[in-house]
Amino acid sequence: QAAAPAVAEASAVAAAGPVAAGDATRIGHFVDGKRIDGTSGRHGDVFDPATGRRTGRVALADAADVAGAVEAAERAARSWRDASLARRTAVLFAFRELVHARRDRLAEVITAEHGKVFADAAGEVQRGLEVIEYACGVASALRGSFSENVSTEVDSYSLRQPLGVVAVISPFNFPVMVPLWFVPVAVACGNAVVLKPSEKDPSAALLLAEWFAEAGLPDGVLNVVNGDAEAVDALLDHPGVRAVSFVGSTPVARHVHRRGTLAGKRVQALGGAKNHLVVLPDADLDLAADAAVNAGFGSAGERCMAISALVAVAPIADALVAKIVDRMAGLRTGDGRRGGDLGPLVTAAHAERVRSYVAAGVAAGAVPVVDGRDVVPDGEPGGFWLGPTLFDHVTPDMSIYTDEIFGPVLGVVRVDSYDEAVALVNANPYGNGAAIFTNDGGAARRFQHEVEVGMVGINVPIPVPMAYYSFGGWKASLFGDLHAHGEDGVRFFTRGKVVTSRWLDPRHGGVNLGFPTQT
Ligand code: NAD
Repeated sequence: QAAAPAVAEASAVAAAGPVAAGDATRIGHFVDGKRIDGTSGRHGDVFDPATGRRTGRVALADAADVAGAVEAAERAARSWRDASLARRTAVLFAFRELVHARRDRLAEVITAEHGKVFADAAGEVQRGLEVIEYACGVASALRGSFSENVSTEVDSYSLRQPLGVVAVISPFNFPVMVPLWFVPVAVACGNAVVLKPSEKDPSAALLLAEWFAEAGLPDGVLNVVNGDAEAVDALLDHPGVRAVSFVGSTPVARHVHRRGTLAGKRVQALGGAKNHLVVLPDADLDLAADAAVNAGFGSAGERCMAISALVAVAPIADALVAKIVDRMAGLRTGDGRRGGDLGPLVTAAHAERVRSYVAAGVAAGAVPVVDGRDVVPDGEPGGFWLGPTLFDHVTPDMSIYTDEIFGPVLGVVRVDSYDEAVALVNANPYGNGAAIFTNDGGAARRFQHEVEVGMVGINVPIPVPMAYYSFGGWKASLFGDLHAHGEDGVRFFTRGKVVTSRWLDPRHGGVNLGFPTQT
């Protein structure tokens, strides 16, 4: 059994490396227990979105770099699959303590590369910690079943066994939480992992891998390969990778699912979203306005569970919009280290794209009640800024409604009835989350039954399931069947086996070529 390491003192955290600040930091890979540079010769730029300055140069892996990581994982998987549940659990508990003790450090790294405000980054770390805690209890989740005497003196029982090497590919918007949706569960189930984080904010994943190693995880069980589409395709094609957990935009999720399954892999590919918040006339409008602002503009709208479409059922739209505008006047957009409400967008290109949607909304005739392009940020002028933007009178044919904008842009669609609201949500190609605000239990119950999404909120705007439930959407928001973490996570990272066993005693014997039946 591995001894659980002591939790490091807070002062030792600095040993994990400085937060990138002035000069560009070199960011490589983590393979077989150590940081390496890789050999591809390709690099990408990492920015501090609040200043617009380049802070890092990240290595972009090619197929050879990926193969090196997969080979290290294959070697490690051979013995890790046989590590006892007690040993795996001890490592997970120790990892949980390290992440918990260093959560502020992790949040700082998130803010430095992603831009979200520190409090939001700390919340992301907390949601990731909850999955580690769930994985600490993997022993109960992996219990099989046993049936005695399925035939005379024949017993049957089920086992769940690890797959081998699995790949986790994550998006920029949750550089800690999304890797932690999968990695702790995969490792707890006895697999080895190659994690490919977003090239936009790669540093947090490297820290997680180092801290997992410090917690006693053997070399090669968790590897981090940085890169872009080339690294992803190499993982999808590599025969040593048995399963792929992907989170990102819908076009890439569809590609990953197709290419991965074609190569014979198990794939869960979580895609983009357009989440609706339906407000019925009997709702508490103050609560609904708070929810719309928090879920629409938190993390600058760069959340897959952000609310981007507010569906106001007549006759409350004017009153609701007024309450939202009132609250928006108090929002502070700025550098995430300065304690504001929302930070910058992740890159200059993404900020430009979101701005172009705002322009398209105006051109299409939506009413820009608050135009975030005019924001005066609490931050350096070079940051990738866009303030909270509210459109009223959005119609379903406008690009600000049809497309996932992934920025602080909330559109109000006015409808006349509950039925029209549900029809609108269900006609949308995405099906991640949806929320309803009402004081009518019957209407809420009807909504949860009728709405075609994977996660439903009732007077809760961002219904992200706890770690012991599973996270995932429907339709164009998820390709595959099993969702992330919880029971689905354990099923995804294991395969089932059923044993039928008979221990002969001297009374048995004789030849019988008939088909076995329950006698
Ligand atoms: P993205 O699709 O651009 O990138 C996701 C990952 O795929 C990254 O690791 C990236 O390097 C890689 N990638 C990018 N282009 C690729 C290509 N052509 N081929 C192969 N790999 C490629 O997504 P993003 O911009 O990093 O993240 C934002 C998106 O993720 C949004 O659409 C958001 O809704 C979605 N998201 C979904 C969930 C969910 O649970 N459904 C959660 C978080 C984010």
